[in-house]
Order: sequence, then structure tokens, then C-alpha cells
Amino acid sequence: MVKQQPKVVSGMELWQWRNVAIQSAIAHSISPIEVDWLLQAITDLDKLTLRLESFKTWTRIEMCFSLAELNQLWEKRLNHRVPIQYLVGVTPWRKFQISVSDAVLIPRPETEVLVDLAVTAAQGSGLQSGHWGDLGTGSGAIALGLAEVLTNVTIHAVDVSPAALAVAQTNANNLGFVNRIKFYQGSWWQPLEPLKGKFVGMVSNPPYIPSETVLTLQPEVVNHEPHLALDGGGDGLDCIRHLITVSPEYLQSGGVWLIEMMDGQADTVKQLLAENGNYCNINIYKDLAGIERFAVAFKI
Ligand code: GLN
Repeated sequence: MVKQQPKVVSGMELWQWRNVAIQSAIAHSISPIEVDWLLQAITDLDKLTLRLESFKTWTRIEMCFSLAELNQLWEKRLNHRVPIQYLVGVTPWRKFQISVSDAVLIPRPETEVLVDLAVTAAQGSGLQSGHWGDLGTGSGAIALGLAEVLTNVTIHAVDVSPAALAVAQTNANNLGFVNRIKFYQGSWWQPLEPLKGKFVGMVSNPPYIPSETVLTLQPEVVNHEPHLALDGGGDGLDCIRHLITVSPEYLQSGGVWLIEMMDGQADTVKQLLAENGNYCNINIYKDLAGIERFAVAFKI
């Protein structure tokens, strides 16, 4: 969030604002926790101080916004259904605070598991050094997650959207990974052509939602998140099919291929990988909600 000249309110004024905002959140079926998330982003108040309401008697609290501006921001959440992560410009993900804008998909908790699966595959198969690709990096979350745990690999993060890449690069700078991740603008593997056959791993959370289904998603998603990062074509599998077809040229023998997908796609993805003929040890893994969410395979 852009820091402005601080505005000062009294604890009582903010306490009253918070109470009204909590009621309006409930009335709009929004989690009231989001009110404190917003207040933590624009003041120095921490979660406990907010929860205990101990700030109520304070004479002055500095905020990045006036109460009128705060009202405008909250109105965007309530009535325009702008995700709170876009309003505050940041989301917690794994150990990080990841900067986000509406140029990137908000990293989801289930995608944290994708990094754990990649790390398990790397450790179990001697893939802990060399080149890894994060294709369709968006905010850069997966690349950052890999860079943090796989300390000897070079990560090549690709996105077709220059605006998304700018967010990913900001995150790599802010979180201290700028020397570990190289960024490329382009479509899937295409900008990595000079490294064909040299990759020990590929990770991707590609768009996988069928075009018609995208339009039925909650308003926060369909009206505010980039469709480029969501829409996987007629059956949702356009990008996954492409990644299955092209990756064998880029992975070295024994390299790992790992993607996130949607509920109901696992059987088809497994079959496509098997039919391709270049993959072995094909496995499907569930997310924390029990949904078959990830496919892992190794280049023969
Ligand atoms: N998991 C995202 C959602 O539920 C979709 C991400 C994607 O298409 N890769 O909206």
C-alpha cells in the first residue's frame, strides 16, 4: 500500500469506525477478520491490540488515510467486492508477505502445497541444483517459495504479462531473492529455448478453469482477478495440455514436472501424461481440502 502523509484519528473514532465496519462486513457476508487486516495495513496497530480493543482510549493513532478515505476503501470491499488483498496490496503466503495488484492472481493457500511437493521431489530425486522453471509465475509466489527452500537451484520465472512480471520482480527485490530468480516475458517455455534439455524441474499453476465456469465464480474473482491467469479454455486444460506436450524437450532425463489443477481434472491429466510416452512415476496429490489438485511426473 502506498504510504501517504500520516493522518491522525483518536482511538475512540477508530473504535467506532471498526465497530460499524465489522457490522457491515457481516451484513455483506464478508469475514469481519478483514476489517482488522485492513487496519493493520494502514496503522501500526497489531492484531492483539485490535482484538482487545485496547486502542480505544488512545488519544492519537496515525493512519495512512483519513477516515473519509478509509470509508471509500471499505466501500470498494463491500459494494465492488474488491478482494481485501488488492486493497491492502499484500497477502501472506508461506513465510512471505507477497505484494499483489490486480495484474496477478492472489496466491492461494493450496498453492503452498505445490512448493512442498516440488521440494519433496527435488530432495528425493537429486534435483536440488540446476535449472528450475516456474511457468506463468504471476506474483512470483511459487518461484519465491522454491528459491527459499532449494538454495542451490536457479529459478527461471516466466510470464506472458509484463505487468505481472513487474509485480514478481518487486517481490523478488523486497524479499531478497533477486539473485536467485531470473525473469522472462513470454509464453510458457518459449523464452527459455536456449536452455532446452537442461531443466531439472518445472512447476506451474497455469490457468485451468473452463471458460464458462470462470464467469460463475464469486464476484471477487470474476470481476477483479486477471482472467488471463484463470481461463484455461473450453475444458480448462489448454495450458496443461501444452505443458505436457512441450516440457519433455526442456526437461533433462529424471527431471520433475509438477502442476496445479482443478477438482475433476486429475484422471484426464494422468491419462494425457501417460499417453505422451515421455513421463514415468505419474502421481496425483490432494490439497488440504482433500481435492485431487496436483500432478507430478518425471521425464523418462
Ligand atoms: N485456484 C484459483 C481459483 O480457485 C485458480 C487458479 C488457476 O486457474 N490457476 O480461483
